[in-house]
Amino acid sequence: MEIFRKADRLKQLPPYLFKEIDRKKAEVRARGVDIIDLGVGDPDLPTPPHIIEAGQRAMADPAHHRYPSYSGMNGFKVAAARWYKRRFNVELDETTEVVSLIGSKEGIAHFPLAFVNPGDVALVPTPAYPVYHIGTLFAGGESYSMPLLGENRFLPDLNAIPESVADRARVMFINYPNNPTAAVADRTFFEEVIGFARQHGVIVCHDAAYTEMAFDGYRPLSFLEVDGAKEVGVEFHSLSKTYNMTGWRIGFAVGNAEGIEALGAVKSNIDSGVFEAVQMAGIEALTGDQSCVREMVQIYTRRRDLLMEGLRDCGFEVNPPKATFYLWIKVPEGYTSAGLTARLLEDAGLVVTPGNGFGEPGEGYFRIALTQTRERLTEAITRLKGMTF
Ligand SMILES: *Cc1c(COP(=O)(O)O)cnc(C)c1O
Repeated sequence: MEIFRKADRLKQLPPYLFKEIDRKKAEVRARGVDIIDLGVGDPDLPTPPHIIEAGQRAMADPAHHRYPSYSGMNGFKVAAARWYKRRFNVELDETTEVVSLIGSKEGIAHFPLAFVNPGDVALVPTPAYPVYHIGTLFAGGESYSMPLLGENRFLPDLNAIPESVADRARVMFINYPNNPTAAVADRTFFEEVIGFARQHGVIVCHDAAYTEMAFDGYRPLSFLEVDGAKEVGVEFHSLSKTYNMTGWRIGFAVGNAEGIEALGAVKSNIDSGVFEAVQMAGIEALTGDQSCVREMVQIYTRRRDLLMEGLRDCGFEVNPPKATFYLWIKVPEGYTSAGLTARLLEDAGLVVTPGNGFGEPGEGYFRIALTQTRERLTEAITRLKGMTF
């Protein structure tokens, strides 16, 4: 008798995106190859010192050692609400329209448990961050894939969603600036989404993890800036990328009070909130000196420009991203995403992510994350220039 027989929801999981890449990487590394990892979207830069110090001070204070409030410390929620006001001119009531998260991934994964019944549909972009689909799956829902295609500037075509699907949909996930395509959305698109949500009774979940990582003076919008958004949606925000805090696990969700309350109800039964010392560090991040964000953007701008130039010299087709630390690049003629990825690893020791790993419409692309120093990126370009495709 098989005791550890897995539940269907685990059997239905797509293969972990980086599993096969990790296996190949270990194999190539064992041969003594110096590997340059341009795969995972995890900042290589450290958390700024003033944020670390705030966390250290709080950690030493026994007042912060007990169970936190599951919805977040009042001070953290006020800091998040004020940051939204300052950055996006969006008014939020910190008592009903903000909830702290153990990273935004946690909130995104739990959200469908609050609103998706078995058999309900969630509208999920593809290619995408896998959590939208997996959160839906764990709630017993079905994902309906909205392809993000170059010809539509990587925005979903809402008119292509059949009425019957739209009417069964409970939730729509969107993410701009986008991982993995680096696409951005304008106000018109968000207005279209709000119209669709109203017409079909769909909750919009906007993943806004990259709003602060934008280049050349471009300032990405919050979904909540657009008229009517708060009636239909919530927005997930993360401190991970903005302040190089991926390991700290802190983010928050804001927006519609019923949406925030229901997510809070799920969370209060599953986790017990974010360690208060981490929230204190988060308060410092959101309210302290923001020059660290400008410096981070400058570093990624230089890396982007360096890599763009090198890739173009090698004949790759790539547009300069306005935001995110990703480049979404067409594979050369005659290659599949997996084929190119394997060749770059085998022949140049370069790890990149195959576009189809984010879903079938990502086939024909690969993703590079700008999470290496200029020296390493220069070395990567040198290796690429030594190859013919
Ligand atoms: C990195 C990332 C996040 C942030 O996740 P956290 O759990 O807050 O660290 C969210 N969404 C996307 C699309 C991301 O790439």
